[in-house]
Amino acid sequence: MDRVGDDLTRAQLWALELYQRALRKIDRRLGELPEEESAFRRRAEEVEERLGALEEELKAKQLEQKRLETEVDDIKERRTRHQRQLLSAKDNREYKTLLEEIELENRRQTELEDRILELMENLEGLVPRVKKTRTEKEDEVTGIEKALAALSAEGEKLEGRRARLEKGRDTLVGRLDATGRRIFNKLVAQRHICALMDGGICSSCRVEVPTQAISEARAGELRSCESCSAILFTEEQASLARTMARNRGFLPDEVEG
Ligand SMILES: [Zn+2]
Repeated sequence: MDRVGDDLTRAQLWALELYQRALRKIDRRLGELPEEESAFRRRAEEVEERLGALEEELKAKQLEQKRLETEVDDIKERRTRHQRQLLSAKDNREYKTLLEEIELENRRQTELEDRILELMENLEGLVPRVKKTRTEKEDEVTGIEKALAALSAEGEKLEGRRARLEKGRDTLVGRLDATGRRIFNKLVAQRHICALMDGGICSSCRVEVPTQAISEARAGELRSCESCSAILFTEEQASLARTMARNRGFLPDEVEG
């Protein structure tokens, strides 16, 4: 093959390598999005649960207060009855029993009222805490919703970019000559179509490139790495290929490199 043809194929293959890298980067990011999304959803659930637990606690304490107050009312009523019965006690024994009852009722009332006081103090702290947590929850949920919307927008943008890149890549593949097409088809599923010879090492598979292959690649031949089959480039060849690819419109601006 003539040198000019090789240069063109080389530029196209390098461009395809850059397309593949850009697509892989997009796929990687697209793969991260669901994980980030569920992390945000989990956080929203946690915030919801935290508030739910506090609200439960508040409700339980308010109910208990009401229950205790009802019990105090019952005791007062019972005591009033017992006090009335005192006046009409038939004998000393009944009188004494009634007094004991009244004494028990007094003690029970004190006990209950202490507990009610304790509850009220508790509620004094709890009510503002629930209120504050409600506000915090709303703020946090708003933040999470924004973050989820941003992730979703990012996903859509990436999908769009991905579709454009695939279209560009396919167009470029359509322009390859037979040699270029054969190389692309063989390497498309691999990590790299093209690799730099970095100090005599293939930058794709990190295996040493034989001296013979290095000099052939340097001379401008399309040489593959014996280990991973990537087409080998010197830095200078890669830079030329990149310039040629840009000048010929093989690469859109959004593909880096
Ligand atoms: Zn290699």
